[in-house]
Amino acid sequence: MERTIGTTRLVLVEGDITEQRVDAIVNAANSRLAGGGGVDGAIHRRGGPSIMEECRRIGGCPTGSAVVTGAGNLPARWVVHAVGPVWSGGKRGEDDLLASAWRESLERAREIGARTVAFPSLSTGAYRFPVDRAARIALGTVRDWILEHPDVLDEVRVVLFDRATYDAYAAALADLP
Ligand code: ADP
Repeated sequence: MERTIGTTRLVLVEGDITEQRVDAIVNAANSRLAGGGGVDGAIHRRGGPSIMEECRRIGGCPTGSAVVTGAGNLPARWVVHAVGPVWSGGKRGEDDLLASAWRESLERAREIGARTVAFPSLSTGAYRFPVDRAARIALGTVRDWILEHPDVLDEVRVVLFDRATYDAYAAALADLP
């Protein structure tokens, strides 16, 4: 499924983030940049040790923010490590922190000159953010950012690992004003 906003394509695919041939892929990192399971484990496993070496030098990243490293052996050029919030009921600023993680990732992509960027579904795995709610926040944030930054990105690809997550993002994209 896809939609064009200005000159930028917003594309949803079912797949594996580590296989994407784009300028930058986004990692669902933790604030210590310490490595973990899910997307993070897959990126470090397939990207090789250079990514973790750079993460150690950077040291950490606050929730709602994002930092950049190289992409090691992955087919992308950069990894944007974004730290989404852990869901704890929705009254601890989780919505704003999730929107911020997406926005900051797009900002990092712009700063490094990326034209194509691929995201996983930040925070909806181990961090337990409800996926329908996350999908609406994520795609609304991307849409707003693209409208504020025309002609910066050619493609924002959201790579969903399973059908249920894909369906949630597809419904959110269909409902996006
Ligand atoms: P978080 O800790 O931010 O919740 P996770 O990595 O646990 O991040 O999960 C985020 C989402 O990414 C989940 O939907 C999970 O199924 C999905 N996911 C896991 N591995 C991959 C992968 N290799 N590519 C794309 N998405 C993945």
